[in-house]
Amino acid sequence: MDITRPLVVKVGGSAGINYDQVCDDVVDLVKAGRRLVLVHGGSHETNQLSAQLGKPPRFLISPQGYTSRYTDAETLDIFAMVYAGKMNTRIVERLQKRGVNAVGLSGLDGRLLEGPRKASVRAVVDGRQVLVRDDFTGKVERVNAGLLNLLLDHGYTPVVSPPACSTEGEAINVDGDRAAAMIAAALGAEQLIILSNVPGLLRAFPDEDTLIPRIRYAELEQALGFAEGRMKKKVLGAAEAIAGGVAQVVFGDARVPQPIRRAMAGVGTVIAP
Ligand code: ADP
Repeated sequence: MDITRPLVVKVGGSAGINYDQVCDDVVDLVKAGRRLVLVHGGSHETNQLSAQLGKPPRFLISPQGYTSRYTDAETLDIFAMVYAGKMNTRIVERLQKRGVNAVGLSGLDGRLLEGPRKASVRAVVDGRQVLVRDDFTGKVERVNAGLLNLLLDHGYTPVVSPPACSTEGEAINVDGDRAAAMIAAALGAEQLIILSNVPGLLRAFPDEDTLIPRIRYAELEQALGFAEGRMKKKVLGAAEAIAGGVAQVVFGDARVPQPIRRAMAGVGTVIAP
């Protein structure tokens, strides 16, 4: 393993994730000299806050079966409150308490994560295809790696979250796993660790005894068939990271002690070329 190459860790936003244990691991790795970028989600908290604010979350399902949050302007505000607000602040706080000088950034800061906003989104509603036009979503196509390297070179640990920045400078909702994959590729990362509330990719979700320990790049298309819902985005992200030159992607469990180091050691689903 080449420890001079950076490590990108994505920690999800689903229920059950232990952020203290994730941050303990980040601290040990950073103190051991690793260049590490932490990317995080916030889906569960966003759903909760949306409901509390009287605007229950809505999801769009694409004709290909991909699920995404319907993000109108009001939802984007709630999304930013959770991702760039509470979640980012609390993760940076955890790292600061542990003596790591973390810097929180959304994809808008320095145009860290940039890409086109989708003019319209095709979705299936009651078996019919509809076009949704007031959705602020898009896909990350460019990463401001210079900004991340500037911080890393000076000993700061970037903590990154959506929203991203559209080509026109609007805040847009983007998938965190695929954003992490783009960051890993842009930085020339050795490994991309994607932590969630499952042990890895399961052949028969939710049976945790059906963990798939290893997937070769050529088998990812087939692996996509096992993934449901948002797990599909992780498989896509893994494919994009490997295609972008990342040596290895690992889907690991964020509910256990030493979640990052376990995944780095190959516990979970390892995806390699
Ligand atoms: P996070 O927010 O932590 O990034 P997501 O909720 O987006 O995670 O995706 C992980 C979820 O994907 C799991 O909690 C699980 O419910 C779901 N999932 C669907 N299919 C699978 C599968 N084959 N293996 C593992 N998890 C799966």
